[in-house]
Amino acid sequence: MIRIQLPDGSVREVPRGTTALDVANSISPRLAAAVVVARIRPLTATETATTDDEAASEASMYGAATTGERLVDLTAPLTEDVALELLKENDESSLRVVRHSAAHVMATAILELFPETKLGHGPATDAGFFYDVYRETPFSDADLAAIEAHMAEVVTRDEKFVRVEESRDKGLTDYAAQGEFMKVHFIEKFTQPGEEISLYKNGNFTDFCRGPHVPSTSRVKAFKVMSVAGAYWLGDEKNQQLQRIYGTAFFNAKDLDAHFKRLEEIKARDHRVLGKQLDLYSIQEVAGSGLIFWHPKGGLIRKTMEDWMRNECIRRGYEMVYTPHIMRREMWKISGHEENYGENMYPAMELDDAEYRLKPMNCPGHILIYKNSPKSYRDLPVRYAELGNVYRYERSGTMHGLLRVRGFTQDDAHIFCTPQQIEDEIAACIDFAESVLKTFGFEEFKVELSTWDPKDKKFIGSAEKWDGAVGSLTKVLDAKGIPYKTIPGEAAFYGPKIDIKLVDVLGRMWQLSTVQFDWNLPARFDLEYKGEDGEMHQPVMVHRALFGSVERFFGVLIEHYAGAFPLWLAPVQVGLVPISEKHLEYAEQVKAKLEAAGIRVELDARNEKMNAKIREFTLQKVPFVLIMGDKESATDSVSVRTRGKGDEGSVTVDEFITRANSLLASKSAELLPA
Ligand SMILES: [Zn+2]
Ligand SMILES: [Zn+2]
Repeated sequence: MIRIQLPDGSVREVPRGTTALDVANSISPRLAAAVVVARIRPLTATETATTDDEAASEASMYGAATTGERLVDLTAPLTEDVALELLKENDESSLRVVRHSAAHVMATAILELFPETKLGHGPATDAGFFYDVYRETPFSDADLAAIEAHMAEVVTRDEKFVRVEESRDKGLTDYAAQGEFMKVHFIEKFTQPGEEISLYKNGNFTDFCRGPHVPSTSRVKAFKVMSVAGAYWLGDEKNQQLQRIYGTAFFNAKDLDAHFKRLEEIKARDHRVLGKQLDLYSIQEVAGSGLIFWHPKGGLIRKTMEDWMRNECIRRGYEMVYTPHIMRREMWKISGHEENYGENMYPAMELDDAEYRLKPMNCPGHILIYKNSPKSYRDLPVRYAELGNVYRYERSGTMHGLLRVRGFTQDDAHIFCTPQQIEDEIAACIDFAESVLKTFGFEEFKVELSTWDPKDKKFIGSAEKWDGAVGSLTKVLDAKGIPYKTIPGEAAFYGPKIDIKLVDVLGRMWQLSTVQFDWNLPARFDLEYKGEDGEMHQPVMVHRALFGSVERFFGVLIEHYAGAFPLWLAPVQVGLVPISEKHLEYAEQVKAKLEAAGIRVELDARNEKMNAKIREFTLQKVPFVLIMGDKESATDSVSVRTRGKGDEGSVTVDEFITRANSLLASKSAELLPA
């Protein structure tokens, strides 16, 4: 007999060889029908090393923690005491199992239609699954459509996924005889001589695979074959050109549809496309990749962001500073960047007096300003802020629009304070971060607290220091009632940190703001202040960035708003459309009046049809278009078209200005009056 512990803590004694499906059936047949896969953890061996390769790689493939926990087929005989979880469709792991099973269904369909195809491997991914295959003739779109149609047939056949084990030698011989060079490679790579290997069969199809799978092909209910891309076998261009066929699968058609709707939304919001369409920024091949050119309209938005940020910093007791872009290599040795961050920095430039390096971070600059004059406890906290340009090396080919670049601007600040001041400072940083997110239109955010792992030697500083710092961060988050996730071992080597991830309109998370403790740099630079006791002490240092990178934040803003910025951020706030030549003079008067009220206006004075002008402003996502004809000229009014709302009829120019000003004052994302 073996013991099975269920999530509610109850323990059942069952014969060895009982399956998870048996357990589910003994609870209820409905549960048995709903369950997708099982997760088990050896009961007696929570600490048993699961360093054996298979468990580790399986764990990494399915995202389970390496606590000996693993996913198994519902039909797998249980052979030891385990904690058992029956995973239904609401579980992320179940979805991966469905997707990987869909990859088998796709391989089945491919081989039935194109028997000459050789198979590589077919894992699940975050967005679906793929299968790497080799066939001399590349697959066409028509082939993909045929494969998808044939998959439906395999699903209808309701073939059971059956696990069989056989000797490694037999597997290797059989696959070699079939010319399945990739399977031979994977068996040799992932199994040891003398081991049994596992194969999964459905119908006439057999695949070398660790599993697990859903019970049968009919459980792959909603899927789509999406695209094909070329790749060399083992990434070597001397090898065969493989084809990676991508697909996705969900539990049901509704989820599948929602997924494609979402992909369309994401595509429509792509900041690289909108950046071009709205003429916000460019990246110029002649200048190099990962370097951003801000065009006038993007520049205006950036200025608005930066003005707000600088004003807020000053209001919140920061002092604005500026520091050089290149500094002596010796200084980067003192700061430790040369040693710990060197591979992200650009190589040294040799000048006549010394070697210099481009700055990847602003911290040492702020430290040198702090150090330039003696400090007493009365001077603290010292808060230096800078919109500092930094340069970090990213491999060519890894850059992505505004999100991953080689040169960017951090809204960086460093706070130097006494240990007694730290909690207030952290609390103020979090308030500030919340204010940034709210002001720029994000409702939701997630907080992560990264702490150390006392067993990991990379972390410097005593347990007392770490516990104290983590204690302060926790205390502040708790006092504010902010929920957070603690991530042990994820801190920087020099101190714990709080990361704030914002959630955009599509529910995507973006890591932007960070608040970070540091006791490394104050020690390296011998920072001091004279305490109340007359003795010299080392200040605590906090790094914090709220936009994070201005470039990246801008990219996120573009996607969040799909380029339809709130009035206060819109580069052109109002478009003016005179109906004909004779209304041009009146339009000029309205323009002057709006500009005098501080509103950014563009007048389309071209000799074009009214509708063409309106269309142009609409494409540019201008918040308001004001149309002026005979009636408006005679009554000192304008006819208002509001972005996303359409025609709103006429108001006087003064009324419009009042409305615009109130929207600007509140930084509202809405365009209708409150
Ligand atoms: Zn498989
Ligand atoms: Zn810093």
